[in-house]
Amino acid sequence: MAAFSSSLIQGGNSKEQANSSVGLPALDVSKAFPQATPASNFPPAVSDYYQFDDLLTPEEQALRKKVQVIMEKEIAPIMTEYWEKAEFPFHVIPKLASLRIAGGTIKGYGCPGLSITGSAITVAEVARVDASCSTFILVHSSLAMLTIALCGSEEQKQKYLPSLANFDTVACWGLTEPDCGSDASSLRTTATKVDGGWLLDGQKRWIGNSTFADVLVIFARNTTTNQINGFIVKKGAPGLKATKMQNKIGLRMVQNGDILLQKTFVPDEDRLPGVNSFQDTSKVLAVSRVMVAWQPIGISMGVFDMCHRYLRERKQFGAPLAAFQLNQEKLVRMLGNIQAMVLVGWRLCKLYESQKMTAGHASMGKSWITLKARETVSLGRELLGGNGILADFLVAKAFCDLEPIYTYEGTYDINSMVTGRELTGIASFKPAVLAKQSRL
Ligand SMILES: Cc1cc2nc3c(=O)[nH]c(=O)nc-3n(C[C@H](O)[C@H](O)[C@H](O)COP(=O)(O)OP(=O)(O)OC[C@H]3O[C@@H](n4cnc5c(N)ncnc54)[C@H](O)[C@@H]3O)c2cc1C
Repeated sequence: MAAFSSSLIQGGNSKEQANSSVGLPALDVSKAFPQATPASNFPPAVSDYYQFDDLLTPEEQALRKKVQVIMEKEIAPIMTEYWEKAEFPFHVIPKLASLRIAGGTIKGYGCPGLSITGSAITVAEVARVDASCSTFILVHSSLAMLTIALCGSEEQKQKYLPSLANFDTVACWGLTEPDCGSDASSLRTTATKVDGGWLLDGQKRWIGNSTFADVLVIFARNTTTNQINGFIVKKGAPGLKATKMQNKIGLRMVQNGDILLQKTFVPDEDRLPGVNSFQDTSKVLAVSRVMVAWQPIGISMGVFDMCHRYLRERKQFGAPLAAFQLNQEKLVRMLGNIQAMVLVGWRLCKLYESQKMTAGHASMGKSWITLKARETVSLGRELLGGNGILADFLVAKAFCDLEPIYTYEGTYDINSMVTGRELTGIASFKPAVLAKQSRL
C-alpha cells in the first residue's frame, strides 16, 4: 500500500507505468480469475424453485427452452464485448429472427401469434442472458409492431408487419422528447397537413433502435386538432436525422437516438388511422408494460443463476462462499423475490387473456416487479464481491441494465400513480398547487 501511494505521489515512473502506456492487453478474465466461470459460458437455469414451468402449456415450455438454448449459445459469448463497446451486434439479428418471436401475440401478417404468457416468457428468457437484446426486441415488437397492428390500416399491416416479423426490417417507437418524458402527453413535435400528406417538425429523445431503424413510428401533435396522431416514417426520409446517444451506463448495446424532424414529409397512407389522441397510445402501452415487466424477471433469473454457480466455485476462508450463512440468506431472498415476481407477471398475463386486465394492473406489475428486481440484482452484486462490478460475470451488467428499465415505459413513480389513480379515483400527476391554479 505504501509503495503504491508513494508512486502515485511521485507521479509514477515505474516499469509498470511504462507497460501500461505501451498498452499491454488485459488478461482474459478466465485466466486472471480462474476460480469462477465467466458468464460467456452461461450458468444453468436454476431459479424455477416453485416449478412455474408447470403453469405453462407444452408449446410455451418448448418455446422457453428454444429461446434459452439460442441465447446461451449465441449471445452469451459475445454480449460483454458489445456491451463494453456500446455497439449493437448486427450479426446476431438472424439468430434472434430464428426464435420467431417478433410480433409476439399478433396473429397473421407473418407474426407468430403467441399466447401472451408465451410471449412474456420469451422476454424473460432473452433478458436472463442479455437485457439489451430483450430491449431491442421489445421496442421493435411490443411497441412499434404492436402499434401498427392495433392502430394501423389493413394496408399498413400487410405492408410493414411481415418483414418486421422476420427482422428483415427493424422498427423503433418515438414518443419521448427532450422536454416531455413522464409528461409525454404534452409532446411538442407537430404534424401539419399539406397536400398528399403531413410535415413533421420536432425532436425525439431516447428512441431505441432509431439510429438504424427502417421504420420509425412517430407521435406528433396535429396542428389542426391539437390531438396526438401517429405516423410511420421511413429511414432516409428527407429532414429526418437520428444521432446516437453516448455514455449510457445501462443497456449499452441498445442504440438510443436523438431524432430530429425538420419538415419531414409523411404521405397520407403512412398516417396511423387508429391514433387520434394520446389515449390511443395507452392501448399499446398497457400490453407492452406487461412485456416490460418480464424483463426484470428474466434479469433477476440470470443474476440468480450466476450467483448460484459463483458461490460454489469461489472459496474464501477455506470454504466455498456458498457455505456462509449470510450468503445463503441473500441467495434465498433473491430466489423468493423471483418466485413472487414470476407469479405476479404470470397473473398479469392471465388477467390480460381473460380481458380483465386494467391499466392499473399492468402499471403495478411493472413498477412492483422492477422494485423487487432492483433489490435482487443489488444482492447479487454484493455476493460477487469485486467481480460484482465486472461485466464479465453478468451481475454488474445486469445491475446497470435494470436502471433504465426501472425508468422507461413509465418510471416506478408514474406507474405507481397510474395504479393509485385507479384505486382512489384521484389523479396525482400534477402537483396540487398547479391543479388549484388551473381551476382559478
Ligand atoms: C434506455 C432508455 C430507453 C428508452 N427508450 C425509449 C423509446 O424507445 N421510445 C420512447 O419514446 N422513449 C424511450 N425512453 C424514454 C423513457 O420512456 C423516459 O425516460 C421515461 O418516460 C421517463 O422520462 P424522463 O427520463 O424524461 O424523466 P422525467 O420525466 O424527467 O422524470 C424524472 C424523475 O421525476 C419523477 N417524476 C416525473 N413526473 C412526476 C410526477 N408527476 N410525480 C412524481 N414524480 C415524477 C420521475 O418518476 C423520475 O424519477 C427510453 C429511456 C431510456 C432511459
